[in-house]
Amino acid sequence: MDFSISTGLAADMARVDSFVNDRLIPLEQDPASFDAHENIREELLQTLRQEVKAMGLFSPQMPRDRGGLGLTPVGQALLYERMNRSLFGPVCFNCAAPDDGNMTVLSKVATEAQKQRWLDPIIRGDVRSSFVMTEPHPGGGSDPGMIQTWAERKSDRWVVHGRKWFITGAEAASHYILIAKTGEGMRDGLTAFAFHRSDPGWQIVRRIPIMGPEEHGGHCELVFNGLEIPDENRLMAVGQGLKLTQIRLGLARLTHCMRWLGLAQRCMEIASQYVATREGFGIKLIDRESVQIQLGRVAMAIDTGRLLTMRAAWRLEQGGKARPDISMAKIAVADTLHLAADTAIQLCGARGYSTDTPLEWIYRYARQARLVDGATEVHQMVISQAYRRHGQAFFVWGPGND
Ligand SMILES: Cc1cc2nc3c(=O)[nH]c(=O)nc-3n(C[C@H](O)[C@H](O)[C@H](O)COP(=O)(O)OP(=O)(O)OC[C@H]3O[C@@H](n4cnc5c(N)ncnc54)[C@H](O)[C@@H]3O)c2cc1C
Repeated sequence: MDFSISTGLAADMARVDSFVNDRLIPLEQDPASFDAHENIREELLQTLRQEVKAMGLFSPQMPRDRGGLGLTPVGQALLYERMNRSLFGPVCFNCAAPDDGNMTVLSKVATEAQKQRWLDPIIRGDVRSSFVMTEPHPGGGSDPGMIQTWAERKSDRWVVHGRKWFITGAEAASHYILIAKTGEGMRDGLTAFAFHRSDPGWQIVRRIPIMGPEEHGGHCELVFNGLEIPDENRLMAVGQGLKLTQIRLGLARLTHCMRWLGLAQRCMEIASQYVATREGFGIKLIDRESVQIQLGRVAMAIDTGRLLTMRAAWRLEQGGKARPDISMAKIAVADTLHLAADTAIQLCGARGYSTDTPLEWIYRYARQARLVDGATEVHQMVISQAYRRHGQAFFVWGPGND
């Protein structure tokens, strides 16, 4: 087992750290840095993205021949947690959901012509994208087999009818990846398509109000009433929509974990600074064993999450799907983010409940972590199914079993 890091990646981590510490975290203190939906203001974001591009760190997860740094999942794990010590980090580096996952899947499955049309503008940061899958009842949510949005083939085109919701970024996106039903099969009944904002035959019917801060473009409900998609914009073969989804969501779930670990570390940093200076009943808070126990518990949870995340990343690099590994990381890190934000607010007292620190922002944001990209219970089901399949071999070292 080798936990060492290459000098190249260590240097990139240091560059990310400098940008986050010197440029981004100070901006979080200024309410004028935020838009109406509690994310970074668009003009400020564009300025910062230019600075990240000048550093050569924009879209680092993309292959070198498409303008990235060719980061592998292990490299992503190292850099993404550093980025997300700031609320603004991932989007400034073009490593935020959903563009991150959409770029990854397009770079893996699209044809060269499709990459030039749909992927390259996202890599450059010229457009944003959305992944359009979840549906309101009685359509597909946790169970993609229930998807009802229907794409009907009419010669060289597909005509789409249906309804989707909770589509992150939809109001600000130009490129959309749609998962629609094209047949009755459990595993081959879905197909994936790309479509453009300006294509007629669909609308955003509402931006759904949520409890937390929002990604740019919000979480929207979409209606399709005759959207026509040329067959050349089909992604992968007819019937491979579920496969595309699995390719996308595997790494996308893990990149959530990578980012959330950075946010959890930030919570610890803020709480640690407070308890190191604040006194009560004659001593500093940090000198109380009960405070040390709370901070130690969070630190251990974060490092446990880092190990689970890194092992899953490493197993992906060995060519596995790492499905139970990703599920374990997703559950553990989502819980850790809650624990870290909650503990930090408690240790900071009334200040923790104020908007003087980003803790309350993180606390509200954290609640989605147990739902997005698979609810905790669904991931527990995945882990249990893998254990049932492999028995004791579930606990192997090395590349692992899917
Ligand atoms: C902030 C946010 C952003 C999102 N962004 C996107 C997006 O960009 N694109 C997109 O397509 N979707 C998106 N989603 C949707 C998300 O992927 C779904 O919410 C998620 O997959 C769960 O589906 P559902 O909401 O329909 O829950 P349901 O399927 O209705 O499940 C409800 C609850 O039932 C329980 N449950 C479900 N299945 C099981 C099981 N097998 N065993 C035990 N308990 C179970 C769980 O507690 C679950 O939370 C987003 C959601 C949120 C909250």
